[in-house]
Amino acid sequence: MNFFEPIDGELACEGVRLTEIAQAVGTPVYVYSSATLERHYTVLTDALVGQGLKGRDGAAPLIAFAVKANSNLAVLKTLARLGAGADTVSEGEIRRALAAGIPAERIVFSGVGKTAQEIEFALKAGVSEINVESEPEMHLISTIAQRLGLRAPIALRVNPDVSAGGHAKIATGKSDNKFGVSISEAERLYAQASNNAGLNPVGVTCHIGSQITDLAPLEAAFAKMARLVARLRADGLSVERLDLGGGLGVPYFDQPEPATPADYAAMIARTLGDLDIALSFEPGRMIAANAGVLLAKVLHIHERPEGRKFVVLDAAMNDLIRPAMYDAYHDLRPVRPRPGPADTYDVVGPVCETGDTFTRDRRLPSLEAGDLVAFMSAGAYGAVMASEYNSRLLVPEVLVRGDQFAIVRPRPTYEDMLAREVVPDWV
Ligand SMILES: *Cc1c(COP(=O)(O)O)cnc(C)c1O
Repeated sequence: MNFFEPIDGELACEGVRLTEIAQAVGTPVYVYSSATLERHYTVLTDALVGQGLKGRDGAAPLIAFAVKANSNLAVLKTLARLGAGADTVSEGEIRRALAAGIPAERIVFSGVGKTAQEIEFALKAGVSEINVESEPEMHLISTIAQRLGLRAPIALRVNPDVSAGGHAKIATGKSDNKFGVSISEAERLYAQASNNAGLNPVGVTCHIGSQITDLAPLEAAFAKMARLVARLRADGLSVERLDLGGGLGVPYFDQPEPATPADYAAMIARTLGDLDIALSFEPGRMIAANAGVLLAKVLHIHERPEGRKFVVLDAAMNDLIRPAMYDAYHDLRPVRPRPGPADTYDVVGPVCETGDTFTRDRRLPSLEAGDLVAFMSAGAYGAVMASEYNSRLLVPEVLVRGDQFAIVRPRPTYEDMLAREVVPDWV
C-alpha cells in the first residue's frame, strides 16, 4: 500500500499534487512519501512483534534500513524517528546514518570489501556490529581493533548456498557469488574469533538476494542458519544475534503478489521462533520502493515510418537505471490522464545509447508532449544510483508529508557541475 493516489483525477503524493511539485522543482524529480515510508516500517515491525519475535534485550527486533536503497538524509531521519537502525556498506553510509540521527548502536556495517580506513572509522564510531564477509577481512578487523584497544563486535556473514530466483545481478546467496563464507567455514571462523583478543563474535548473518517474492528460499536459508546457531552453541560458543538480511520483494506490477510482511513474520516465527536469539533485519526495498516515484515530462511523441511509437521523456537512464541494468519493470502513470485512446509505445530517455529505454511495447493511456508521467515504485535503488552521464544534472529529490513538501536534495546548477572539476595548468 502507498500514498500515491489521485486527487480530483490528478496523481498526488499524500496531499500534494505532483503537478505542483513539477512546477516548483522542474522535472525529472524523485518524490517520496513520508507516510508510506512510515507505514512500511511500522507494518514490518508490528508483524514481527505480533509473532512474539524479539531483538536485543527483549525489545522489538532491530530494523536496520539498508541505506544503499535510499540514502537521502531526510528519508533516513524519517525512519530514525521511528526507531530504525541502518545497514551500511561504506564509511559514507555510516556517516549518513549518524548525520540522520541514527545512533551507532543501531548501525550495522556490511559489505564485501571494507577498507582498513573504513573499519577503523566504524570501530571508533562504535557501530553495533561489523558483518564479516571473509577470513582475511576478519583478521584485518582483529588487527585494527587490537591496535585501537577494542574488541570488535562482529557477525559472520554466512552464504547459505540457496538460490533465491530473481535477477542474477541481485542474487547473493549462492556459493559461487562473492558474498559471505560457507556454513562449514563459519563454524571454524566463529570458534577462531571467540579466541581472538580483537574480536567479539556476537552472531551470524545472511542475506540471499533482493526482490525475493517467494518465501521458500528465505525459509530454506533461515532453517540452515538455525541449525548453524544450534551447532555453534552446542560447541559452547555464545551466539546472541541473528541478522536475517533484507530482500523481501515488492509488487512492481500486479503480477504474483509478493509475500506480505505478515507471511514473512509467520514464517520466521515457525523457523526460528524457538531459538531464543536477538533478531535483526536489513530491509531496503520493502521500506522505500513504493514510497517514491520518479516524475518526468513527455518531450515528444515520435512515430517512426514503420509504425513504432516512442515516448521521449526528459528523464533518462542516468536518473533511473533499473530498467537498463536489471530489466526492471516500473509502472508508468500519466499524472493527469487525458481522454483518448491507449496506444503501444517504447518509452525512452534522451541519453545517447539504445540502453536508455525504460520499456518497449508498453500499452499506455493517451499521452501528448508536455504531459507529466510518474514511474511508480522508484523510491529504492533509484536516486541513489543516479549519475550525471551525458552531463545531465543530478536528479533532485523531494519529500512530502501531508500537504507540505520540501526539496531534500536540490538540483545542482551547471556551474556547480563544472566547478567540481580541475584542469591542471599543464593541459
Ligand atoms: C542490499 C542489501 C540489503 C537490502 O536488500 P533489499 O532487497 O533492498 O531489502 C540488506 N542487506 C545487505 C547485506 C545488502 O547487501
